[in-house]
Amino acid sequence: MTDAPRSVHSQCPYCGVGCGLELMPPAVKGQAVRRDAEGNPMWTARGDRSHPSSLGQVCIKGATVGETLARGRLREPLFRTTLEEPFQPISWDAALERITSQIQASVARRGHADGIAMYGSGQFHTEDYYLAQKLLKGALGTNNFDANSRLCMSSAVAGYTRSLGSDGPPSCYEDLDHCSVAFLIGTNTAECHPVLFQRLLKRKKRNPGSVTIVVVDPRRTDTAKAADIHLPIAPGSDLALLHGIAHLVLRENGQDPAFIDDHTENYDAFFDVAARWTPRRVARFCNIPEKRLRDVAQLFHRRERVLSLWSMGVNQRREGTAVVQGVINLHLLTGQIGKEGTGPFSLTGQPNAMGGREAGGLAHLLPGYRLVTHAQHRTEVEQAWKIEPGRIASKPGLAAWQQVEAMERGELDLWWVAATNPLVSMPDLDRVKAAMGNCPLVVVSEAYADSETSHYAHLLLPAAQWSEKAGAMTNSERRVTYCPAYRRPFGESRPDWAVFAEVGRRLGYSEQFNFDSAAEVYAEFTALTQGRLCDVSGLSHALLDDEGPQQWPYPIGSQPSQTAKRLYGDHHFATPSGRARFGTDQPLGLAEPPCDTYPLVLTVGRYLGQWHTMTRTGKVERLQNMHPEPLLEIHPTDAQELKLRHGELAAISSRRGHLTAKVNVTDRIRRGSVFLPMHWGFTQDKACEANTLMHDQACPISKQPELKACAVIVAPAVSVVKPAEQEKGRLEALRRLLTPALR
Ligand code: SF4
Repeated sequence: MTDAPRSVHSQCPYCGVGCGLELMPPAVKGQAVRRDAEGNPMWTARGDRSHPSSLGQVCIKGATVGETLARGRLREPLFRTTLEEPFQPISWDAALERITSQIQASVARRGHADGIAMYGSGQFHTEDYYLAQKLLKGALGTNNFDANSRLCMSSAVAGYTRSLGSDGPPSCYEDLDHCSVAFLIGTNTAECHPVLFQRLLKRKKRNPGSVTIVVVDPRRTDTAKAADIHLPIAPGSDLALLHGIAHLVLRENGQDPAFIDDHTENYDAFFDVAARWTPRRVARFCNIPEKRLRDVAQLFHRRERVLSLWSMGVNQRREGTAVVQGVINLHLLTGQIGKEGTGPFSLTGQPNAMGGREAGGLAHLLPGYRLVTHAQHRTEVEQAWKIEPGRIASKPGLAAWQQVEAMERGELDLWWVAATNPLVSMPDLDRVKAAMGNCPLVVVSEAYADSETSHYAHLLLPAAQWSEKAGAMTNSERRVTYCPAYRRPFGESRPDWAVFAEVGRRLGYSEQFNFDSAAEVYAEFTALTQGRLCDVSGLSHALLDDEGPQQWPYPIGSQPSQTAKRLYGDHHFATPSGRARFGTDQPLGLAEPPCDTYPLVLTVGRYLGQWHTMTRTGKVERLQNMHPEPLLEIHPTDAQELKLRHGELAAISSRRGHLTAKVNVTDRIRRGSVFLPMHWGFTQDKACEANTLMHDQACPISKQPELKACAVIVAPAVSVVKPAEQEKGRLEALRRLLTPALR
């Protein structure tokens, strides 16, 4: 790192909007050094006006990121042989030796490397992702590398692939300025992607009547409050709604026959499915007035510019892939794709989940949107990596939840978690804790000292985080931003990519992991994307640094800021036939519908001022003050029937666990449903592990768990279990579950 410049430009490390940030150093000439609450010199952030994705806008999370970078950090590697022992410092050399010897012992004992698995993160830079999956898939020969994108976007990945032939969101943020209808389904954009939502609202305010906002959500979220039409459908009824809209589009002759004939396939089968979802049937299934359905359906017409936006409410469903295809169907039906102001557009939860998908960061992927099941794709990657033919396994590795199940069965000898906190974000958390207790070596690469997952690890590796390592990130509109290292790594922390490279070299792959910088790693990755849909072969750290963020595809020879803003402008899709394909799945509803014992549907979501598992945002007083504690939202009529009073504690139970939370009686939530935020893990003062209650049932295609809904019963809490005591009890239970050898 050279001397700090006056300010640097980077991408916000929180949500997938990927806003540009301008970071100012702690000491500005003539002024006192700015410091965080622990007294560490503090860089401050503001919106980067030169960033094309956000145009200088920033939300409170991005604006306060400087306060989070030095507080509560993990300083050095720590190790313990059992979970009962306290951690002891260990050298990096000894830590890496433990990892490599565990890998070698596992391979020797089992005869294959499937006893090793890694669970990475959309917080990774693309370089971290690329080397992590290269280590597992190339050096070890197991595809057991998955990431928390599995919990976030894998249904979008699968839906795009099945309908359009490849992953890759076709639209861009500018489409918010040109659409005549913004159809937001399963996304609380106002709180989860606030800068994008503000862009839409500003347009509407400046030019009333220019855009109709439709929000489909069981809750009257802040997004829904700003909508022209809010459809508070019953949880799990979204696919029926989409088919019902298609039914009415066809009945009103709003489809685009020329587009359907020239650019799609499987239309007749889709027509048969849509024909069965009559308005009356849909209104009953979704529990909405038929008129509201008709109001929305008339907006989907070949003459309208419809932009459909979605996030976790669609993806985190046991039929997530089918629902994504249901959204895309409406765009194929009306020819609204690849054109200004139109298209299906998934809003990514994490800052670089998109980069991860490009780099092969899921258990079924290889770099450049390739598939492990595709022989030619494997050969191309093996040749690029200079590894023996057949080294890359032909079957998908263990997806996120499958890794947990493998630990339960005693099939994993090493679980390496990096840059993510599954003990808040996974479903059925007590089961995950018990499973981790059944794995002889759990390694956690973490920037912070006290994540929930760290409590169940044997080996903690301090990770250099965003701001301390250089790398690239891709946001939801396919825009790649160079994120420079502008602070020194904290303590002994190292970039994840460098740790993965070192393990690769120690395992004997010196040539394959011979990297001195993230720029070299990025160059190898970009070369592998040449000729693919996500071609970034023309990008480099130097170009991104000099020319600023760029959208892909960006093949060699592209001119900065001159590439196409949208995919499929020629209506030639990435399928073998070049035609987009209609999806024809029938709606299934929720995997765990309410019943006599568990009569309510719990849905979980996010607050504006917190981000995911609070490892960063939980350290910012301003954000804590915005949302001092998690609240259970319940409709007034349900609250009255259940004798729950506003401000008092409720006990919430599902088939998997129990917790308590303070009641917020509000008509934001529809009758029959309750809501909890997902952020508060057991290390927080106001612990409320919402995902403890969630089941593990997942979409069979995308393997994304249905984290959005489970059946619960709610009652007034007769006594309060404090989080620390609750966790102590759980640790006792965990110990009883441990295999005898580990006790
Ligand atoms: Fe960061 Fe997302 Fe906020 Fe933009 S909207 S500043 S990317 S958290």
